[in-house]
Amino acid sequence: MNPSVAYFSMEIALEASIPTYAGGLGVLAGDTLRAAADLELPMIAVTLLHRSGYFTQRIGPEGVQYDEPARWSPEERLEPLDARLEVHLGDHRVRLRAWRYGVEGVRGGAVPVYLLDSDVPENGPDCRSITDRLYGDGPVARLRQEAVLGLGGIALLEAIGVEVDVHHLNEGHSALLAVALLERGEDLEAIRRRCVFTTHTPVPAGHDRFAEETVREVLGPGRMERLREIGAMVDGSLDMTRLALAVSRRVNGVSLRHAEVSREMFPGREMDAITNGVHVATWVSPPFAELFDRRLPGWREESANLRHAIGIELDEVEAARGAAKRNLIEVLHARGRPGFSADRFTIGFARRATAYKRADLLFGDLDRLRSIAARHGGLQVVYGGKAHPRDEEGRAMIRRVVEAARGIGDDVSVVWLEEYDMALAGILVAGVDLWLNTPRKPLEASGTSGMKAALNGVPSLSVLDGWWIEGCVDGMTGWAIGDDPRAPSDPAGELESLYRTLDEEILPTWRDRPEAWAAVSRWSIALNGSWFTARRMLLQYVQRAYSR
Ligand SMILES: *Cc1c(COP(=O)(O)O)cnc(C)c1O
Repeated sequence: MNPSVAYFSMEIALEASIPTYAGGLGVLAGDTLRAAADLELPMIAVTLLHRSGYFTQRIGPEGVQYDEPARWSPEERLEPLDARLEVHLGDHRVRLRAWRYGVEGVRGGAVPVYLLDSDVPENGPDCRSITDRLYGDGPVARLRQEAVLGLGGIALLEAIGVEVDVHHLNEGHSALLAVALLERGEDLEAIRRRCVFTTHTPVPAGHDRFAEETVREVLGPGRMERLREIGAMVDGSLDMTRLALAVSRRVNGVSLRHAEVSREMFPGREMDAITNGVHVATWVSPPFAELFDRRLPGWREESANLRHAIGIELDEVEAARGAAKRNLIEVLHARGRPGFSADRFTIGFARRATAYKRADLLFGDLDRLRSIAARHGGLQVVYGGKAHPRDEEGRAMIRRVVEAARGIGDDVSVVWLEEYDMALAGILVAGVDLWLNTPRKPLEASGTSGMKAALNGVPSLSVLDGWWIEGCVDGMTGWAIGDDPRAPSDPAGELESLYRTLDEEILPTWRDRPEAWAAVSRWSIALNGSWFTARRMLLQYVQRAYSR
């Protein structure tokens, strides 16, 4: 028997058209649940219902991002539950309802996802809006959301009569669930036996800390004392990561390198590495799905079958690559970019727009980039990604890319596509020739978009950080920017490496040796597509984290 698991996550990408996710964390959560449904694992998931969905993005001609909440109708997409729940936050009794969504697997298995919703008439306006927005404004709003996720999540399990063997905390946001278990009379040791924690980022802003007065106001003084006893109050603040560490039996980083970096952040703590993966059937584009159906039967059920892609003829790989690229070019034309052509080498870069991802590194030396493009018949670069509305540096990065693009001349065409979501991600990762990734080391805990690209035969050119340290076989599955993964980022050296590799290796291979290029595509699928999957990841969780 597999242990039963309740998976807690602040964001989950259920579908492209349900805007309850901001980026990699939510997409990973969705892919995990899709793999669990395929494997028919006894898993359920808990998250919040964000009625003001993660936002609609418009980008002005100067690169300014305009954002507005994305309206959607939960009533049309989710099934309401009759149960009413309650959590006590300070002086407030917050009433909650829940909605259900079923994630379906290939063999008919289903994972239920429960979305907690504070927008009920019994609540005052202050409490009604708690769950409204993903990552709400200001510390009080954020802590209330995390309290609803953790405390409300445990109340939900009770209300629907589900007992689980394991609570999987996907990031520290849900760690207050341990307080709910303590309040139900469990002791800390018993709780630790039933909690597993995945930490997702070494970026300090990704680790929530709440000042004492916020904790006292939102949770009340009694709970603050308990949190102090557990060791979660650090230097006068509630540290959600410390709380998650204190209440969990197992802790995982999301790549080998990330686990190493996390061990340095939390000395003395045992830290396993389970490298992320993506849900294969979700991210394989239609031309490759058709090819795999013909040549690798059963690939949806057993993603390891993709290793046999190595036996597919190169011209078949090339044909599928061509179809996926034409599809992207059509989308670009439909979005008012008639100048983009399937005959030009196309680079893709799309992910959350935030400073450490360095979307603008490519434009570090415009003259050099122009001359490389001119030498090799032109270049096209397709960007996508939203900056969190309050992330000023992320917004400025979009502006810098759009500005650089305007002055760069005819040999380099650049576009930043609006409204990056799962649907656009699927078209982009499959349609470009090369997936570029330039994070500042060691801040890319894993990264997953390059894995989606690999599934579609698209190699990466990436800084050696996160998953790429494990996935890069230089010249076969892609190329590395820089060499030593442990050396801190050196922007000038990385820029030199990026340009040189593009100019001397990548572009000449693409232009003059189409067979060699198709072989790189095929290696990407067989070596990386077959391994960096949510199925492999989840089976490792079952074996190394969920089972005792
Ligand atoms: C996969 C995905 C991401 C994550 O991209 P990274 O390169 O891992 O940061 C973010 N947003 C969307 C919509 C995605 O599909």
